[in-house]
Amino acid sequence: MRAAILRDDSGTLNIEDVTIDKPDRNEVLIKTVASGLCHSDLHFIDGSWSFLAMYPMLLGHEAAGVVQAIGEDVVGIQAGDHVITCLSMFCGYCERCLTGHSYICSERQQVQARQPGNQPRIIDNDGAEVNQFTGIGSFGEEMLVHQNGVVKISNDMPLDRAALVGCGVTTGVGAVFRSAEVKPGSTVAVVGCGGVGISTIQGAHLAGARQIIAVDLEQQKLDWATQLGATHTVNPNDGDPVAQVLELTSGGVDYSFEAIGLKQTAEQAYGMIRAGGLATIMGMIPPGVNLEIDGADLFLSAKRLQGSIMGSNNFKVDMPHLCDLYLGGRLKLDEMVSRTITLDEINDGFTAMKNGEVVRAVIDFGT
Ligand SMILES: [Zn+2]
Ligand SMILES: [Zn+2]
Repeated sequence: MRAAILRDDSGTLNIEDVTIDKPDRNEVLIKTVASGLCHSDLHFIDGSWSFLAMYPMLLGHEAAGVVQAIGEDVVGIQAGDHVITCLSMFCGYCERCLTGHSYICSERQQVQARQPGNQPRIIDNDGAEVNQFTGIGSFGEEMLVHQNGVVKISNDMPLDRAALVGCGVTTGVGAVFRSAEVKPGSTVAVVGCGGVGISTIQGAHLAGARQIIAVDLEQQKLDWATQLGATHTVNPNDGDPVAQVLELTSGGVDYSFEAIGLKQTAEQAYGMIRAGGLATIMGMIPPGVNLEIDGADLFLSAKRLQGSIMGSNNFKVDMPHLCDLYLGGRLKLDEMVSRTITLDEINDGFTAMKNGEVVRAVIDFGT
């Protein structure tokens, strides 16, 4: 199959022919129909997370497709099914999984890749193992994934929209409903209005927040945010974004969300909450970067600061529900796809993302 392979931190993906194996007992072979380009992929391409890279590497983790074949132990998924993949793969038997927190499964490595000594799922032309980012690797024409990273969805759901649910939408909407549990009538600020931030804004809208403040440096993104549920916008080019949010809310929001992954914006998100407020950090802050907050303020104002990964999802349940919200017209996904590209245009797609030109670029692999 053809796939976009990352071989170093030069910033470019190479389109190569690689060989993908047949499904093992618990695996699902999927024809990739659509894959979004996510900032988490970009972090590996631009080198900011390259210390975790395992070259050669097949990136891509926000995808939907059609099942081609299944292993003998796969249950609930059949050839021909339309599916979404999710990087929140779970073992199903660790303490985290058994207490309903499978998004932070402690045995994930058991399902992300085949265990050492076995034939790799994907090899390149030299016979070297190609590592699937997060156990998925959706920048290829096919995906071979453990069944605990795959969920069946309705055939009514367009697969190029379903792909977005695979990461960005679940992360943003899930942060609102599962991580922060935003209450109706509350006030919300979202720092960073790319795919995750826009999804957070939509989640806050669905949750009945009365004031939803979008914060971004790009006017285009603030316009998109307004179309998709933001009631107010703040551009840091116009002055300190924390001061602007405090002014708009008479002292701070009930909930803030950070969707960029920078020390500065994470600290700003914390600064935007009122006494008793909750700041949720979704961005991929690089390891070794420390946040600084005023300890006395945290204590005296009873503020809360939390991380949220992949929207604290239970994706086998959540993703079909999110598809239903789209099909019912309540979750807007068409508006989030700024650009549709081919696999060969993937490097241009990431350049557009870096330049802030898109909410989401989606690769259409054709049917
Ligand atoms: Zn992602
Ligand atoms: Zn587990």
